Amino acid sequence: MDTLFEQVRRDAQALREQLVAWRRDLHRHPELGFEEKRTARIVADHLKALGLSVQEGIAQTGVVGLLEGTHPGPTVLLRFDMDALPIEEENDAPYRSEHPGRMHACGHDGHVTIGLGTATLLNRYRDHLHGRVKFVFQPAEEGMGGASRMVEEGVLEHPRPDMAFGLHLWTDLPTGKVAAQAGPFMAAAGFFSVDVVGRGGHGAQPHLTVDPLVTAAQIVTALQTIVSRNANPLDTLVVTVGELHAGTAFNVIPAQAILRGTVRAFDMNTMQMAHARLRSLAEGIAQAHGARADVRTEVISPPVVNDERAVTIVREAVRRIVGEEGIVTIDPIMASEDMAEFLTRVPGCFYFVGARNEAKGIVYGHHHPCFDIDEDALPIGVGVMTATALLAGERNKG
Ligand SMILES: [Zn+2]
Ligand SMILES: [Zn+2]
Repeated sequence: MDTLFEQVRRDAQALREQLVAWRRDLHRHPELGFEEKRTARIVADHLKALGLSVQEGIAQTGVVGLLEGTHPGPTVLLRFDMDALPIEEENDAPYRSEHPGRMHACGHDGHVTIGLGTATLLNRYRDHLHGRVKFVFQPAEEGMGGASRMVEEGVLEHPRPDMAFGLHLWTDLPTGKVAAQAGPFMAAAGFFSVDVVGRGGHGAQPHLTVDPLVTAAQIVTALQTIVSRNANPLDTLVVTVGELHAGTAFNVIPAQAILRGTVRAFDMNTMQMAHARLRSLAEGIAQAHGARADVRTEVISPPVVNDERAVTIVREAVRRIVGEEGIVTIDPIMASEDMAEFLTRVPGCFYFVGARNEAKGIVYGHHHPCFDIDEDALPIGVGVMTATALLAGERNKG
């Protein structure tokens, strides 16, 4: 098998120019969630040109391609997300976004590119492939529920995958490093809003009002006790109030205050506990002040939890493509990823491919207007994903 993986590494590197061209074209034309029409067209055309059977329009703009290997074996799902963000790009690169207010600021242009490259190579190695590979190009990862829409529309059936893999280019990690580890890797994300309803009036006559602003302020303070007093100190939990809106004038007591925030945790019991506590704190404090709190909580994404066997496969792929020094372990991330929707239903691994390069000035975090990726990470991503699919087919064949 060793010579095959040497060939994968060489072929991925030889594809570099094509990968950079794809990525820059996609970067110039970013599309927001569920609007990835041009991107989906490029993906579908390429997969069809390779001879894959292709389904389009899943979850509006999602594309699925099926590649049959020569040998019998399992179905391996590879997922690549496609959407951009509503951010004005501040980079001065020749491949800068041509669309004001839209930008590939998370690297999903690179993910689509890696998907196209991986399909190209795996198609070339069909005679070495056990089972089949289901390429899933997903819309709307950025908090819009693209993954769950694809699941609802049957992406995990006909054929049902036995294992699932996804990757994220990651600028907190230098190019050449890959983080794949078992267990909780990215947090579950929740959303909450609290509408505090009081009774407005003149700022000089507070006794005739029910001030929702004072109540909201106490709720914000009280919510801090969920982490410090309610969560098990050995658990990880974040409760953040990110929005607080009230009032229109300095001398008016408003009728309403609105706060919104997010809960992050690595297990759903902790998340449910936090949601229950924030509801009773908000409702109780509002009631104590003669106001009312309308609380809404919602789970946006479950946690990304990686399967031990799938992690072993990715690490083996990194070893073959990059070398032992490419494998790193990092602290789990409190951000969320809707790859979790696939991984709660199919065992698999979501991993980070380093794309930071200090020498090139590629140091900005995800969602920053100066975000960029080191394009040297593209052939690494293609090589590792290709090797992962080959190994997963081989390991699960019987
Ligand atoms: Zn993002
Ligand atoms: Zn992302």
